[in-house]
Amino acid sequence: MKPDVVRTVQEIRKHVQKQKLAGKSVALVPTMGGLHEGHLSLIKKAQEVADYVVVSIFVNPKQFNNPDDLNSYPSDEATDLKNIEKLGADVVFIPSVKEMYPDAFATDVKVSAGIDILCDAHRPGHFGGVATVVTKLFLQVGADFACFGEKDFQQLFIIKRLVADLNIPIKIVPAPTVREEDGLAMSSRNARLSKSDRQIAPQLQAAMQAVKTNLHKGISIEQACKHAWNSLEKDDHFKVEYLEVRCGEKMVLMDKPSEGCRLFAAAWLGGVRLIDNIEI
Ligand code: AMP
Repeated sequence: MKPDVVRTVQEIRKHVQKQKLAGKSVALVPTMGGLHEGHLSLIKKAQEVADYVVVSIFVNPKQFNNPDDLNSYPSDEATDLKNIEKLGADVVFIPSVKEMYPDAFATDVKVSAGIDILCDAHRPGHFGGVATVVTKLFLQVGADFACFGEKDFQQLFIIKRLVADLNIPIKIVPAPTVREEDGLAMSSRNARLSKSDRQIAPQLQAAMQAVKTNLHKGISIEQACKHAWNSLEKDDHFKVEYLEVRCGEKMVLMDKPSEGCRLFAAAWLGGVRLIDNIEI
């Protein structure tokens, strides 16, 4: 069945309130569109945890620190709606930029944990934009659950902090990273990889797996990451931004691997920034 499509806060509230009055639980899946199997896995997860599923599509200008990245962000509403329809989500919320940020808009949400490191060190302001839009979506929709991918682990960490700190009555449900068969983590931005870069892109995940193997063999984090960094950059295809092992719970940098720690990576390939993380 075709999902309802609503574009205003008033309409989405009405839809959700009706479900809640009928005793149904509601899950939200926030996206920026360009939907792929990773997003669809979140919708499936949402259907497992709640009776009624809201998918939002909003390319949030506040979280882009590079205008070219914003302008070239893949967006195809008709295809996204077809994909959502196949899974049977209930309603799709597609607000305009004006609906989200009316002219007088003057509020920013800033989370002070999980910043200055990893992506935040390279994309200043990005997570402030994420925190602001996610807070708005949570308050607009009033869902009981919200599903987020571990692909964006730092984002997940910051959103969990935000929800706890502001006592927002919503449960954050994480979901594992969905990958292409060759190991590349799915991302809307992968569509912007050239044909030859698409062939090379899985080397990032392969290098990360090699770090994991080396750590399990007892090689130090420093040595294992240095080796992977050099091997990625040796042919001048990748430009690595970071390759770090951090504790998955507090995001603290580790000097020795231990239970629950993760390897985080970001690298540019052509004009596309790839990010990924795996459990060690
Ligand atoms: P985006 O549209 O890129 O803002 O992502 C929307 C949601 O989908 C976020 O919670 C992401 O973490 C999640 N997501 C993106 N890529 C993947 C993936 N490959 N596997 C699982 N979740 C993903």
